[in-house]
Amino acid sequence: GREEMEKKAPSTPDADLRLAHDSVINLDHGDPTMFEPFWKVMGERATVVIHGWEKMSYFSDPTNLCWFLEPEFANQVLRLHQIVNNAATDGRHIIVGVGSTQLVHAALYALASTEAHHPVSVVSAAPYYSMYSGIADFFKSGLFHWAGDAATFKGDDNFIELVCSPNNPDGATRDAVLGTHAGKRIHDMAYYWPQYSPMRGPADHDVMLFTVSKATGHAGTRIGWAVVKNNEVAQKMVKFIEMNSIGVSKDSQIRAARILKVIADGYEFPDPKSTVRFFHFGRHLLADRWQRLRQAVEASGQFSLPQFSPEFCEFFKEHAETYPGFAWVRCEGEGIQDCEAFFKTMKVLSRSGRHFGAGSNYVRVSMLDRDANFDTFIKRISSKD
Ligand code: PMP
Repeated sequence: GREEMEKKAPSTPDADLRLAHDSVINLDHGDPTMFEPFWKVMGERATVVIHGWEKMSYFSDPTNLCWFLEPEFANQVLRLHQIVNNAATDGRHIIVGVGSTQLVHAALYALASTEAHHPVSVVSAAPYYSMYSGIADFFKSGLFHWAGDAATFKGDDNFIELVCSPNNPDGATRDAVLGTHAGKRIHDMAYYWPQYSPMRGPADHDVMLFTVSKATGHAGTRIGWAVVKNNEVAQKMVKFIEMNSIGVSKDSQIRAARILKVIADGYEFPDPKSTVRFFHFGRHLLADRWQRLRQAVEASGQFSLPQFSPEFCEFFKEHAETYPGFAWVRCEGEGIQDCEAFFKTMKVLSRSGRHFGAGSNYVRVSMLDRDANFDTFIKRISSKD
């Protein structure tokens, strides 16, 4: 468990030094560095070597619709989905992207360009992931445009709903709010992994997005994948990635494949000398953080947090709590209109609710940073009066 990790993991002196007493801590981004100690313990097992003459070609598998998909990466993706049982993959296309960010662009392009009517309205229920609006409008595309909160959408059937579940920023489990009789949907499943959420069985949607950024913590590797049912949609997504980046780094795919393999091996071939397994480690750490956050919030009386009911988790085979990767904090203190500014007075950078289509009385705070940063965050919100 955690203690084992703490004994074995070398400390990160640069991270500790940066946390001098009064430094500003940045919990604005969801940088998933909290998983570093696990990967330090894995050591050589998770290390990849790529020789100078290897992986030089543009092509990975010319017989695959997604010709730049490394077969070993695809195998490990399918294997991990099978072990976690969080997504239906039979008969689906796997499409690799530069993070799931490139895949959001690719999926919007693909779904809009199979539509007769343009521009297509892109919506998501508030509070929605703050990048969706920027992504939808970035190219000022003639194919689609951002149309805001799905819950108040008044347009016709010509829409694409982005459904993020569990949701960034508030951790809620979500279904499409506009129903499925019309329009199209992209299901962003970045957080549908056992460390964050009870697993309710395999999700089965037309377009599902995943990313190693949130699954394993390797945001810097920039690898995401889409699970896509429809052939034409898959083809158009591949076309987008060809035009945008002529494929996706093989080096990154090879590294991501190894990372996923180490996690899968931990469950399929447990090492008798080490009981540390990735989702168990992540869940344990997040459980501890959420418990401390809830205690601090209760003691301060100035904030509130979303509440979740435990549900049966098909992965852990027990009732499990929800531990989102972000805390969606509402400032309750009298006279606090701007919650982000209030957090700044505590030297904590957060992201205002305004970016998520919600009020400035909310902020989103990352729960995924390194231990030292999280500890400082808890101290600061506890000592404010
Ligand atoms: N979707 C959601 C809901 C996210 O939170 C993030 C990362 N913050 C992404 C997509 C994009 O992640 P990446 O491009 O690193 O895969």
